[in-house]
Amino acid sequence: MAVYFSVVGLAAMFATVPRADAWGCKGHQTVALLAEKHLTPEAKQLAQKLLSENPMDPKLNRYCGGAMRDAMADASTWADDVRGERKNGPWHYIDIPREAQRGPLEPFCGREDCVTRAIREQLAILKDKNADAAKRADALRYVIHFVGDLHQPLHTATNADEGGNCVPLKYLRRNPHEHNHSYSPNLHGIWDTAIPERDAEGADPGEYAEMLDALFAADIEGWEKAGIHVDDWAWEGHEYAKSTAYGNLVPKITVEPHVAVHTCTDNNNIGDRLLHQNIVAGEAYQEKAAPVVEKRLAEAGVRLAMILNEAARETE
Ligand SMILES: [Zn+2]
Repeated sequence: MAVYFSVVGLAAMFATVPRADAWGCKGHQTVALLAEKHLTPEAKQLAQKLLSENPMDPKLNRYCGGAMRDAMADASTWADDVRGERKNGPWHYIDIPREAQRGPLEPFCGREDCVTRAIREQLAILKDKNADAAKRADALRYVIHFVGDLHQPLHTATNADEGGNCVPLKYLRRNPHEHNHSYSPNLHGIWDTAIPERDAEGADPGEYAEMLDALFAADIEGWEKAGIHVDDWAWEGHEYAKSTAYGNLVPKITVEPHVAVHTCTDNNNIGDRLLHQNIVAGEAYQEKAAPVVEKRLAEAGVRLAMILNEAARETE
């Protein structure tokens, strides 16, 4: 769970629920490393040049550690580290109600922005050769991160429960605990971190990326041919959230009314209400979720490469 303990982060935690805001470190680094396998030489060069010539603030507290040897993997978690200082929280997700039907995403994006719009905006900066180089480097870091986030199913769906952050559950042997109206484990958090970590069986991000790239080798060409459709990718994730993330919980949780939720005490104490339902995600849940996590990480990596390849082509 990407809760970071800088002073700003801690202050923010008391102000609002510490919404987990990303695949964990391993997920994001895996997406970046998988993408690199599919970059054109031009895209690779563009990324390396922007990142090396415009380094991150060395004083920035890096939640995932700053020692990744690979520049893109290192860049992949930066957006979470600057979440407090840049107030970019809403850029990491889009709250599509659980029962919403496919259609334009604009109604769900909101005044504070959302992940699909953030990808478009940052991509425009990345592609603008006349933009400030430091801004383009940050835009690249954002795009690497947000294409990852977009593929986490619970970043594109909500049941008036903060995208599953307010769904306390027992995960395998871990019982849920409440602290300042946030819960651990919770549905969002296990998708960010625990499910992929367990699925990786100790593999580091490089090894996990290798494994996924081989596992989906037969599908990758099809994904590439389908082209770049950010909104469709969001709806795909929404579908997985419905069918797999919410669909396999025991007991089933009902569809909540579509109300705005900023903490787990909203929506008539959603967190506390669900805590008392003793929701369980056990071995059977992990087995159904893991293939979806694997596919989404692989798709995110391949699609990130497609986006960066196009950006490099257009800025030549
Ligand atoms: Zn994020």
